[in-house]
Amino acid sequence: MRLDKFICKSTELSRTGARQAIQAGEARVNGEVITNEAAQVHENNHITLGGQQLEPRPFRYLMMHKPAGSLCSNVDGSYPSLFRWLHVERPDELHIVGRLDADTTGLVLLTDDGRWSFNITRPEQQCEKVYRVGLRDPLVANVADRFAQGLLLQGESKPTQPAVLAHIGPREVLLTITEGRFHQVKRMFAAVGNRVLSLHREQIGGIRLDVPLGHWRELTPAEIENA
Ligand code: URA
Repeated sequence: MRLDKFICKSTELSRTGARQAIQAGEARVNGEVITNEAAQVHENNHITLGGQQLEPRPFRYLMMHKPAGSLCSNVDGSYPSLFRWLHVERPDELHIVGRLDADTTGLVLLTDDGRWSFNITRPEQQCEKVYRVGLRDPLVANVADRFAQGLLLQGESKPTQPAVLAHIGPREVLLTITEGRFHQVKRMFAAVGNRVLSLHREQIGGIRLDVPLGHWRELTPAEIENA
């Protein structure tokens, strides 16, 4: 990671404070003064600031139950940011792994570990996301097959990856997808002439939502490992 970010993660300094300290020649990496705040450093490097050795705080991994009418964004917009429901120190260091629409509820993961979130979201990982979907119209017979084969979404040239549809009721299904295209679930049902009326994410990889609406908790080591 960048030297200025490393210093922020190991001290109470802001990004500006970290940059000022670096430019003033206070930072050393393996004994050498570094004045470039963008220099790449590794957690195994010996990094000091004003002679004090720095140890980065451990990464944080959280799950949250996103309420409807909140934004997966660090700042408020047309709706309040879901960070309003998250009472933690230094919330600005966290980012959201796989956003949900404002009207979608359910599981949101937050972390400050960019490598972990990249692994979950990169397409090759084929990480399964499970959604409970409420539909306007009852399901017609061949929809599960069409989802299993892959669908062309409006405006796209590449079909969706195979998805698994399980019936819960005539107008309610569980859908498992391995991608994260823009409005993917709503567009998949639009492609078969239906409409999503409610959408809720229950699971991402091995992590199942188990906190009440608007609440959050830290992930367990097993969940972090198996995401
Ligand atoms: N697909 C959607 O259409 N919306 C979401 O919020 C998540 C997946």
